[in-house]
Amino acid sequence: MSAPVLVINSGSSSIKYQLVDGETQEASTSGLIERVGQSESTLTHRHEGERTERTEHLADHAAGLEAMVAAFEEHGTPLAEAGLIAVAHRVVHGGERFVQPVVIDDEVEQAIEGLSSLAPLHNPANLEGIRVARKLFPRLPQVAVFDTAFHATVPERAHLYAVPNAWREEHGVRRYGFHGTSHAYVSRKAAEMLGRHPKEVNVIVAHLGNGASVTAVERGRSIDTSMGLTPLEGLVMGTRSGDLDPAIVFHLHRRIGASFADLDAALNKESGMLALAGQIDMRAIEAAAREGDRAAQVALEIYCYRIRKYIGSYIAALGGADAIAFTAGIGENSAEVRAGALGSLVALGVRLDEAANAAGGPIISTPGSPITVMVIPTNEEGEIASQTTALLRN
Ligand code: AMP
Repeated sequence: MSAPVLVINSGSSSIKYQLVDGETQEASTSGLIERVGQSESTLTHRHEGERTERTEHLADHAAGLEAMVAAFEEHGTPLAEAGLIAVAHRVVHGGERFVQPVVIDDEVEQAIEGLSSLAPLHNPANLEGIRVARKLFPRLPQVAVFDTAFHATVPERAHLYAVPNAWREEHGVRRYGFHGTSHAYVSRKAAEMLGRHPKEVNVIVAHLGNGASVTAVERGRSIDTSMGLTPLEGLVMGTRSGDLDPAIVFHLHRRIGASFADLDAALNKESGMLALAGQIDMRAIEAAAREGDRAAQVALEIYCYRIRKYIGSYIAALGGADAIAFTAGIGENSAEVRAGALGSLVALGVRLDEAANAAGGPIISTPGSPITVMVIPTNEEGEIASQTTALLRN
């Protein structure tokens, strides 16, 4: 590896890691630590095709990252000998300040903490990983790469809410957008597949995983995206509602006295496909729909319809698109969702090639389709590593 970067994505009870070459964006080693803090935590470590798993009690993130270091020692190259150039951290919310990756020092750490009120589910967990890694690797630069940063180019017409000024000025209320590293990577790959420079093309990226968002990328720059102040806005997701009338919150508060904490949890963790279909795994929902489960059928229809509305509106926002790219767990794997989402967009220039779609692409539109539709596997860790390498080189 010419520029090995250890990429860490720290969640509240999980840690994902990858050893990635910042030049090629390829990973040699990856791992997932789950149920941190519980009696039976698991660590799954993959090194060049070999997979090992162990179960032990990992009391906190420090214990988790120490177990990661041990896993590297047992399988593959110990991290101390890997020639690491940096440890890179995925940070969900960068607010208005962090529009580029940044080398982390105490002041940056505090600023990320200050943004926790905008992302209470994510930033504190990201910070935990940063604090532990700074102690564990004190001599290496630690870099934060923000999910919001790619959307810093979204203009006011798309990022301001029509609400009192003070909300924005004093409390940061505006649209930020997320999944930025994925949208950046996939939109660039889409341009590559068209044989054009990213600055020459307009691309719509549909990142459809458990969390999901659509972004309109005009000549390499994000100009609109479906997530807002938080990742709750936009598409229907695994457990998030996506767009809704905010008055629903007041209505339920008045009618049943629901607390804001309960409503927050309900909209983020108990809504979306879980509420509509009773489950979140898209494979299981599709299977249930095929077997005649009405709730699953309606849920799929709603899911695809919301994507279709966003794609249609982004074709309008861009004044025409060259490509639409599907990515992440559902976008990369579900031909049914892709077909459902594109169904009635023929009039807007989308001609789906059904056989190519069923086969998974990479190009799933007909040769004469005015808009080229693609399936592109995302590589968020690769993008984080290459942005980190670029930052340190400058
Ligand atoms: P991600 O958050 O990107 O890991 O995506 C997770 C989602 O991808 C889950 O809802 C999975 O059910 C879905 N997924 C993974 N593989 C498939 C597949 N073959 N068909 C449909 N959905 C899939």
